[in-house]
Amino acid sequence: MSQPTRKPPGKPANEPASQPALRDRFWETVPLDGMTRGEWEALCDGCALCCLIKLEDEDSGEIAYTDISCRLLDCGTCRCGNYPLRSQLVEGCLVLTPESLPEIAPWLPGTCAYRRLHEGRQLPDWHPLVSGDPEGPHRAGVSLMGAMVPEYEVDEDDYGDRVIEGVL
Ligand code: SF4
Ligand code: SF4
Repeated sequence: MSQPTRKPPGKPANEPASQPALRDRFWETVPLDGMTRGEWEALCDGCALCCLIKLEDEDSGEIAYTDISCRLLDCGTCRCGNYPLRSQLVEGCLVLTPESLPEIAPWLPGTCAYRRLHEGRQLPDWHPLVSGDPEGPHRAGVSLMGAMVPEYEVDEDDYGDRVIEGVL
C-alpha cells in the first residue's frame, strides 16, 4: 500500500547565493562537502520538484511522484513560503546537507543538481549556473510551475490518481 510522504524535500532556491563570491565553475572542481554555504545553495535550480508529495510503496519501496505540492509552496513561482522555517512548519521537509544527501538522493528528481553531483554526473545545460538564466528549469520544462495542485485542494484518498511519470 502506498503512503503519502513528503520525504525528502525540499529546498527550492530561496536564499540568495550572493555571499561570498562563488568560485568559477565550482561544481566541477569542489566536492560537495567542500563547498561554501553560498555555493551549496546556488546548486539548487529552484525547480521545486522535491516539494511535490511522493508515494512510497510499503512493500517494494518504490517511489512515485505526484503533481501535488507542499502546502507551503507557491505553485506559481516554485518558491517556498517560509524557507528559513520550512522544516519546523512542515513535517517531513528535510534539510538537505552534504551529510544527509546520500540518504535523500534516491528521493530527489533525476534532474536535481545535488543528486546529479552525488552520482558523479554534471549539471545540465539549462541549469542557472551553466546557462546564467534563473528561469532555465522552467523554460526547459523541467519544473511543474503553474501545473501543480496544492495539497490542501486534494483529498488524501485521491493522491494515487495524481501520480506523474518521468521525474526520478
Ligand atoms: S529538486 Fe533539487 S534542484 Fe530542484 S528545488 Fe529541490 S533541491 Fe533544488
Ligand atoms: S516547506 Fe514545503 S515548499 Fe518549503 S521547502 Fe519544504 S517541502 Fe518545499
